Amino acid sequence: MTTRRTAKIGIIGAGSVGATIAYAAMIRGVARQISLYDIVPTKVHAEVLDLNHGMLFVPPGSVEGSDDIEVLRGCDVIVMTAGAKQRPGQTRIDLAAVNASICAKLLPRVVQVAPDALLLLVTNPVDVITQVVLKVTGLPAERVFGSGTVLDSSRFRYLIASHCGVAVQNVHAYIAGEHGDSELPLWSSASIGSIPLDQWDVKGHGQLTKTDRDEIMHNVKDAAYQVIQGKGATNYAIGLAVTNILEALLNDEQRVLPMSGLLRGFRGLDDVCLSLPRIVGSNGIEPPLPIPMTAEEEAALDESAKRIRTVVQGLGY
Ligand code: NAD
Repeated sequence: MTTRRTAKIGIIGAGSVGATIAYAAMIRGVARQISLYDIVPTKVHAEVLDLNHGMLFVPPGSVEGSDDIEVLRGCDVIVMTAGAKQRPGQTRIDLAAVNASICAKLLPRVVQVAPDALLLLVTNPVDVITQVVLKVTGLPAERVFGSGTVLDSSRFRYLIASHCGVAVQNVHAYIAGEHGDSELPLWSSASIGSIPLDQWDVKGHGQLTKTDRDEIMHNVKDAAYQVIQGKGATNYAIGLAVTNILEALLNDEQRVLPMSGLLRGFRGLDDVCLSLPRIVGSNGIEPPLPIPMTAEEEAALDESAKRIRTVVQGLGY
């Protein structure tokens, strides 16, 4: 893995999500080179022009793009965002067949031009796609992972922080399982400033009743639907979330992030990709941390795993 100053990242798909990741990564100076690949040449060239016109205002770097996959040659990390997106009313699982087929065709070719790259999947349903890409590329599990519930956990922390009137950075709480309708909140390990959330009772900063928790979780699950209903796509928060993951990878930060990756014997779960907090660095992802869970949380994780496995098997993987 090269260092931050010389790293090259590739982004597949120059749509709402891919272009916003490029924009956020460029502003933060994550990589020296950002390369975009899309099948629609007019779209990718227009995004690259627009991004390059802002180069004066950001850390030094360059942005290029093409409809030729060669543009991804030698990348350190490749972010996959290409494919169909949810239309209002659609679930992420509804996208499984079409996006799995795109990934199964494309990713083996990508590995040929960037054989040392870490693969970060964002295309939905991201857990299913991660498992498909693992199978079709044959790469080791630590090098193929999904953005998973990094975004959902950020939404979760934001809602808890707003409710309690504290900074989002002081809330530690994760969403685990599927990045989708069967995801689960890990309330039992959530804390604010080292106080377990179920003991949080601070004058002027409230408490979290069962109704508050249900409402927060409802809003986490419904978040993408609400945004898509209003503007057709989610892009800013996922752009920032992926940029944060890229920094953890490229700077070898050993950061704890709820990424989607293959489980091998975690609490009896095997051969399924889903999100749990893991340490992330320049070698990719580590196995999930042994985070404490209640019996209820464990049962919900099992259910989420079953749902993902059923979709993956239905696709023939
Ligand atoms: P979009 O339609 O705006 O962009 C998709 C892009 O992919 C288009 O530019 C299209 O030309 C390109 N594309 C399609 N097939 C291709 C191929 N074979 N090769 C190269 N490029 C190809 O969609 P979007 O809003 O950017 O969403 C992209 C994906 O990201 C969707 O699947 C969406 O559900 C997902 N997403 C995931 C998260 C997450 O947290 N994991 C969050 C938001 C969106």
